[in-house]
Amino acid sequence: MMSIHQKYDEVTCVIDDTVHKLLVIAIYTELKFYDATTHLVCYVPDYISINSSFKLQRHHMKQFEFDEKFLSERAVYVSPDRVTSVEKHIPGAKCSKCGIYVQYVEEPFTCYDCRQDPYR
Ligand SMILES: [Zn+2]
Repeated sequence: MMSIHQKYDEVTCVIDDTVHKLLVIAIYTELKFYDATTHLVCYVPDYISINSSFKLQRHHMKQFEFDEKFLSERAVYVSPDRVTSVEKHIPGAKCSKCGIYVQYVEEPFTCYDCRQDPYR
């Protein structure tokens, strides 16, 4: 089991028998009595459908301390034991026009398609 994860790691994990590559946007430790369970909170882009995903709201922000740019996006809890591999720290940003998330860029950011066609 891979135990050390960090924000913005990209993890390959298995959810509902499907392999996904997801970005960790927060790490949430849930305390229940004497047990601490760690969940990776992973960003779920629009083109991925995961039944157990949920919409990130303000109250989640207090819980997980994720970056504000992920507010209203979807996320899913991933148990660290579902992770099969990790790529370290791939930060990115959302396009200021169409909202697509692109890795290896910094905000403010406008994607290639939106730069080519401003009326898109
Ligand atoms: Zn764009």
